[in-house]
Amino acid sequence: MATTTVTTYLCIGCPLGCRLEVEHDGPDIVEVRGFGCKIGKRFAEQEHTAPTRMVTTTVRVKGGVWARLPVKTEEPVPKDKVLELTDLLHTIEVSAPVKMGTVILENALGTGVNVIATRDVEARPA
Ligand code: SF4
Repeated sequence: MATTTVTTYLCIGCPLGCRLEVEHDGPDIVEVRGFGCKIGKRFAEQEHTAPTRMVTTTVRVKGGVWARLPVKTEEPVPKDKVLELTDLLHTIEVSAPVKMGTVILENALGTGVNVIATRDVEARPA
């Protein structure tokens, strides 16, 4: 007879923060409970099988009016790549001016996801 386990997750889809329960037999999901909407059900299924996260951080800017440029991934990346990607981004320096939406890192760590600038940074007046 198969035995199942229940793993809980906190939904981050909205401020309600539903407590999601995934009943599973190893990697196989038997049932998802506790979601208030379908976003939570999808989140629980993904979190259980292949968790992903958006990455937001900053990179250094050379010659800009600001010393750092905020950046983010265009799509979520595998959760186990987040720390490695953050470390990599902290080694990158771009030159001002930079336009919002500029690709700062293409195909980050082979995930197929680009990292882009999320604001303009003008060049510092000479
Ligand atoms: S399941 Fe739906 S209602 Fe509940 S926290 Fe997630 S997004 Fe919000």
